[in-house]
Amino acid sequence: MSPKLKILPLSDWIDTDGKPLIISGPCSAESENQMLETARELVKIDQVKVFRAGIWKPRTRPNDFEGVGEKGLIWLEKVKKETGLMTAVEVADSKHVELAIKHNVDILWLGARTVVNPFSVQAIAEALEGIDIPVMVKNPVNPDLKLWLGAIERINSMGINKIIAIHRGFHYFEKSPFRNAPMWEIPIELKRAAPSLPIVTDPSHICGNRELLESISQKALDLEMDGLMIESHFDPDNALTDSAQQITPKYLRNILDNLVLRQSKGDIEFQHKLEELRTEIDKLDGELLQILSKRMEIIDEIGEYKSENDITILQMKRWAGIIKDRLAIGTHLGLDSVFLKKLLNLIHKESINRQEDIFGKE
Ligand code: PEP
Ligand code: MN
Repeated sequence: MSPKLKILPLSDWIDTDGKPLIISGPCSAESENQMLETARELVKIDQVKVFRAGIWKPRTRPNDFEGVGEKGLIWLEKVKKETGLMTAVEVADSKHVELAIKHNVDILWLGARTVVNPFSVQAIAEALEGIDIPVMVKNPVNPDLKLWLGAIERINSMGINKIIAIHRGFHYFEKSPFRNAPMWEIPIELKRAAPSLPIVTDPSHICGNRELLESISQKALDLEMDGLMIESHFDPDNALTDSAQQITPKYLRNILDNLVLRQSKGDIEFQHKLEELRTEIDKLDGELLQILSKRMEIIDEIGEYKSENDITILQMKRWAGIIKDRLAIGTHLGLDSVFLKKLLNLIHKESINRQEDIFGKE
């Protein structure tokens, strides 16, 4: 993959004083008061440079709150005038682009649901032709680096060179503590493919809750992401969208104060490699657990069969055969025989316990 991107360094168009860029503001604009009250608190935090708010909200079901529409842009203009913060809004079609520009929004962003669709991205890119405005491109909902990069290329090809990629996590079909799995290897790969492209992590949409925000923010900084986008609201519990993950500006200040900025430029390659290896381990552990669980399901099935046919649980000959066979395979694969014996015995013990439970029920 070798994209020919022409991207300006972040420091050419936004002054972050060498620190990570912090973008914050509500998930959705709800009222003028909510916007102004939130922004007045945010502007007191030095690192916050951009105020974000969704005006048109992509919702899963049609009757959910779909955003306040154009009047939210007037509130956004008031925020900009009063606080001096740059403003950012999500656009999903050419009409949104036109309205946002009419209302002097400073930065536009493409949401995760828009980026999955190259037709939509292309239409937005064309609407932006000849306009000098920064654009943030969120990763698509699904873990597809090419789709993300493709959207960035489409925007860039229209002459937009102030671009930030936003890493907001990916849909993941297995159980995960996150709303959207971070899959750090994808933004890391993006950094490798496009070293000049700034990447800002969005811990709010990765976590989906408040508790994990700080650790994900720290991790993003450790991996040398260029900033954070964190949703904030003056009354998060009563927010109309993404209430569980929004935080007060005070809570944001607390997170930012706790973050450690490591000056370890030299070992970033090492950090990236480590992250890739850890991702591999996470995947393998997941597979290992699934296999174990499948094995136990079959053990249960055998238990039921034995119970129905009045056969004893423990069959020493079979077990001795298993040990011999598995030890041979395992040691051949380079595993230590003492470790293997312990592991096999542990699995055996658990299998017997499960079958005893089944016999007990009969
Ligand atoms: C948002 O930023 O509020 C939003 C809708 O995000 P995403 O597109 O990442 O889901
Ligand atoms: Mn949101």
